[in-house]
Amino acid sequence: AWQATLGQLQMDMSKAAFETWVRNAELVTHDGETFKIGVTNAYARDWLESRLSSTVARHLTGMMSRPQKVEFVVWHKEYEGEGESEGVEEAAEEEPAPAPNPTINSRYTFDTYVVGANNRLAHAACMAVAENPARAYNPLFLYGGVGLGKTHLLHAIGNQAHRQGLQVLYVSSEEFTNDLINSIQKRNTAAFRDRYRRIDVLLIDDIQFIAGKESTQEEFFHTFNTLHGQDKQVVISSDRPPKAMVTLEERLRSRFEWGLTVDIQPADLETRIAILRSKAERASRQVPQEILELIARQIQSNIRELEGALTRVLAYSDLSGQPVTQGLVNSALADLIPQHSSLGVDAVVTAVSSVFGVPSDRLFGRDRTREVALPRQVAMYLMREDANISLPQIGEALGGRDHTTVMYACDKVADLMQRDDRLRRQVLQVRDQLYGQARAAA
Ligand code: ADP
Ligand code: MG
Repeated sequence: AWQATLGQLQMDMSKAAFETWVRNAELVTHDGETFKIGVTNAYARDWLESRLSSTVARHLTGMMSRPQKVEFVVWHKEYEGEGESEGVEEAAEEEPAPAPNPTINSRYTFDTYVVGANNRLAHAACMAVAENPARAYNPLFLYGGVGLGKTHLLHAIGNQAHRQGLQVLYVSSEEFTNDLINSIQKRNTAAFRDRYRRIDVLLIDDIQFIAGKESTQEEFFHTFNTLHGQDKQVVISSDRPPKAMVTLEERLRSRFEWGLTVDIQPADLETRIAILRSKAERASRQVPQEILELIARQIQSNIRELEGALTRVLAYSDLSGQPVTQGLVNSALADLIPQHSSLGVDAVVTAVSSVFGVPSDRLFGRDRTREVALPRQVAMYLMREDANISLPQIGEALGGRDHTTVMYACDKVADLMQRDDRLRRQVLQVRDQLYGQARAAA
């Protein structure tokens, strides 16, 4: 029954997710009502437990024809050789798993962080620090815009350092400030100092908020000096580089620049698509490439919003029972991207004309040569799909064609886009222009 369930999962899940999480899972025991499934490490266990336990139990129940429970356990085969691979070492290190650190989010790890040109340096610096706290770069100062993954990287360092048995503390600079204020009110600053100065790795997020707060800066300065002086790692994030923090005391600024300062830039299109793909896979969802691309093109700067957009699209699809199509994406994201109502015939024709290099007047005309016919059909498709213009109106605008011609054109373009990469890209480029315009106008 377990083998059959594996087969079923392999069909349901993406290949990468299956390979990563399920491939090595093995049946350990079955006592008639509970399948105990052994996996190689705690990540896999948590992942499977949170995402698949009910699905697996359902499959097993179906096959055993009485209710079955499933339990995932970390389990090592006896004969596993030593030093076989990194994975084995990691699993071995995890055996006496340290109690979770309440300040660290275990979901934010290096494994789930997608690396692209925009964050390669920051990612490498964080990995180096996590592997060799206080030996690589100290302090490490990370800066970048909202939603670009600074907090994620801090937690990734935290998770790794924690697993090595180090004392890790993650705080936002606001929490640090509040803690300080509370300790002053309660006349208990000794406990405050103790808490902050006993740790091995201090991860302090959004430091820009302490700029201008004198007593907080003062206290942080001492905390920093104590930790740094004892060879403890400090990692700082901010929305801007130290130089741009105008009300930061000079002595703090110069401390921040002692180590390494790295920035995170907005992700390019490829990285955004990769992030969406990884997120879809982790949720065990199959989403066609062109849909990921459509979402990635529409949400350009903030990864949190990008993830939110995907979640929203999937929820729309689940709730409506419809497959994830471009049309569904457009309605799911309609409020996030204010273009649909403002799109008209002219805007579409202009954008199609520039992407396909065919003059607008030829698109409006009756000319049926190939190099005009396809772009015109694309224009019809977009007027229908994105601008919600009626078939007769579209036909009338584009050379006085009847609505069945328009309908045929829309179907043909939708169909071609499934197969023709180049056309798919061109359509996305047109959409890019349309949405860009609508955004600028909004
Ligand atoms: P910041 O702290 O810079 O505002 P966060 O670290 O909170 O941004 O990131 C926002 C969201 O985007 C988080 O859910 C995070 O996991 C995700 N995210 C950001 N960058 C990446 C990336 N490169 N790969 C995967 N997820 C990312
Ligand atoms: Mg953050």
